[in-house]
Amino acid sequence: MDNCIFCRIARGEIPSNRVYEDAHCLAFHDLHPQAPVHVLIIPKEHAGGLSDVGGLTDQALAACLRAAREVATLTGVADTGYRLISNVGEHGCQSVAHLHFHLLGGKQLPDRMA
Ligand code: AMP
Repeated sequence: MDNCIFCRIARGEIPSNRVYEDAHCLAFHDLHPQAPVHVLIIPKEHAGGLSDVGGLTDQALAACLRAAREVATLTGVADTGYRLISNVGEHGCQSVAHLHFHLLGGKQLPDRMA
């Protein structure tokens, strides 16, 4: 997608602080971290979000989920724990229409989701 900000990051047109990359996905630090560790994991292929993965290969989707463990290890939160979240749509407060998973950790996270 030409104007999708995360597609542009995946293509290297917009700089990002990369943590992990493989053939199908990319992980980079969130610009506005909500926790000491806040990394976004995205598929390189475009998908609008978790409610719009019809065009995404299973391989790309699985790569994002598998990448979480790698990112957790690389950022030092694998042992202490972390949270993986994907916001969907208006009520989910999704602000970027490219599938992404927030990996949050590095402190005790709140036990309530809402
Ligand atoms: P969401 O609100 O769940 O769609 O999450 C989008 C996230 O993308 C937010 O946490 C933003 O801080 C983050 N974000 C937006 N633009 C960039 C960027 N250029 N580099 C890194 N993170 C970004």
